Amino acid sequence: MKNIYFTCGPSQLYPTVAKHFETALYEEIMSISHRSKKFQEIYYFTQKNLRTLLKIPKSHHIFFLCSSLEAMERIIQNCVFKNCLHFVNGSFSRKFYHFAKILKKRPVKIEVPAGVGFDLEKINIPKNTELICLTHNETSTGVSTPLQYVNLVKQNKKHLIALDIVSSAPYVKVDFSLIDLVFFSVQKGFGLPAGLSVLIISSRAIARSEQLRKKGRSSVGHHNFFSMLEKEKICQTPETPNVLEIYLLGKVCRDMLDVGIAKIRQETEIKAKVIYDYFDNHPKYKPFVKDPIFRSKTTITIDVQDKSDKIIDRLKTKGMIVNSGYGDFKKSQIRIANFPAHTLNQMQNLLSNF
Ligand SMILES: *Cc1c(COP(=O)(O)O)cnc(C)c1O
Repeated sequence: MKNIYFTCGPSQLYPTVAKHFETALYEEIMSISHRSKKFQEIYYFTQKNLRTLLKIPKSHHIFFLCSSLEAMERIIQNCVFKNCLHFVNGSFSRKFYHFAKILKKRPVKIEVPAGVGFDLEKINIPKNTELICLTHNETSTGVSTPLQYVNLVKQNKKHLIALDIVSSAPYVKVDFSLIDLVFFSVQKGFGLPAGLSVLIISSRAIARSEQLRKKGRSSVGHHNFFSMLEKEKICQTPETPNVLEIYLLGKVCRDMLDVGIAKIRQETEIKAKVIYDYFDNHPKYKPFVKDPIFRSKTTITIDVQDKSDKIIDRLKTKGMIVNSGYGDFKKSQIRIANFPAHTLNQMQNLLSNF
């Protein structure tokens, strides 16, 4: 029996991946040169479909990196001289903050307890802030910040905004006119193997990185925005990239366009509602995030009264794989991913086992 992975990443493969993988083998995608015309065509195809799917404007560049943790580091290296502001509400947003410290910046954090959202309407942004770092969907706790709140932090100021959409893409609908740096990894909502991250960046952010570079204020290494930009112009990357993944991502974006992104988003909301309704009415197990406004639609966290081990083991015998809670919540919670690869039927099946 094949398992169904309701895990938050790596997760269930998008249904068409196996087919594309076979074609990739047949077309010898894994052996072609990353400086070849064939690769440039793949690169172009993937960029084009990604742009259409997520409505990324022409003003924004698309870079390919190895992971989203790498994206966080590159963003801070390339866009921050000293001062960045981090909204921390779990492990991934804390990592972003931590990277700024490692890189010897002066990060400031605004922190709320696990399971709670930010009141972004009342935020006072320090004057010297160069970059604001936000995590749209904090996978460790299942808290999601609604985009209309995220957009508030713009405040017509000069700071750049970086938004982690790793576990909410392609569901989340980003307003690229307000957000300068957006990134995600493909092993979550896109249902692909791990090992590729996409960083979408505005010309404002490029300009900022050039300013820093010219003033000698950033000490970035080889893999910097400038080298990536130079190669992007000719549909290449500075290093030998994960060609197979770039290929598969383009194909899956194409397939998602065929389904329709509006439909994918709507189905995500329907499945999320089914899950939350079920646990809101469960006698023992309850959604960890109490305020419905801040409940993630894509990575759902359930409080299971320290029974996570037992539940996970039992579901496993039925071929259903879910995550435990993250870090301190390992025993007390389970996490269920709700990605485009998961069907309503599979969700209902999963729920019938609680
Ligand atoms: C998984 C995840 C990351 C890290 O992605 P990698 O591809 O493992 O680097 C970052 N942020 C969030 C919110 C995540 O869920």
